[in-house]
Amino acid sequence: MSIVKEEGILLRAHPYSESSRVLRFLTPGHGILAVMARGLRRQSSRGQGSLGTFDEAALEVSFRSHRELQTLRGFEVTRSRRGLGREVIRFWGASLVAELLLAHTLHEGDRKLYEGVSGALDRLQELPRPQVPAAILAAGWTVLDRAGLAPTLAACSRCGGDVTQKEGLFRFSTAEGGLLCGGCGEEGRGPRLGPGARRDLGELATGGIPAELRAADAHLRILEAFALHHLSPRRPFHAVELLHPLMSDSEGGSAKGP
Ligand SMILES: [Zn+2]
Repeated sequence: MSIVKEEGILLRAHPYSESSRVLRFLTPGHGILAVMARGLRRQSSRGQGSLGTFDEAALEVSFRSHRELQTLRGFEVTRSRRGLGREVIRFWGASLVAELLLAHTLHEGDRKLYEGVSGALDRLQELPRPQVPAAILAAGWTVLDRAGLAPTLAACSRCGGDVTQKEGLFRFSTAEGGLLCGGCGEEGRGPRLGPGARRDLGELATGGIPAELRAADAHLRILEAFALHHLSPRRPFHAVELLHPLMSDSEGGSAKGP
């Protein structure tokens, strides 16, 4: 057994017994780290603060390498994200990020992923309300990108043909991993995207936030279908169901499709 110091973003907590909880953190050094936390109330009375979902903390963990569940010895909150609870769309957006990360079941450390998620959660908390749908989508694609699941948008994902023309509609195929050229798209499945939607998707897929995103709900469907197909989670993403009505509610999100 060794004592490990690690940073972590709390993704999920569930009760284990009356006095203990199982906490799942995203960490830069150990991927998803599950720890048993006993008597956390005692620690918060020592002035370390209480730990809320999506907060970031310095962790001290008793670590045994063959165990699935480690033991949390102490923590100190380094970044509170209570602001995410201010509006349901922000909270469920962050919850979707957590669901994607937990579905990916990452066992190795990835500091770039950790920093990407940390920055994405900060944006979700801080950006003005009209930009929140785009911030959610950018955060979701950031996770998929670091999981090696970026969509192919620069060329046809079947034949490598050109999909960069400024005009026309190109089909987005979840199963084939991205855009299909005109010929390949004829018998393919999936939504057809116009030039504006392709540009927006290109920006979101690299973690960018388009200045004016149209049809955010349609973009959420694309992200959802892509993540379900390529991550194969054990159950559908709960947060997505709650986000759908909130996404189409937003400014500029009234269009029927991208
Ligand atoms: Zn093609």
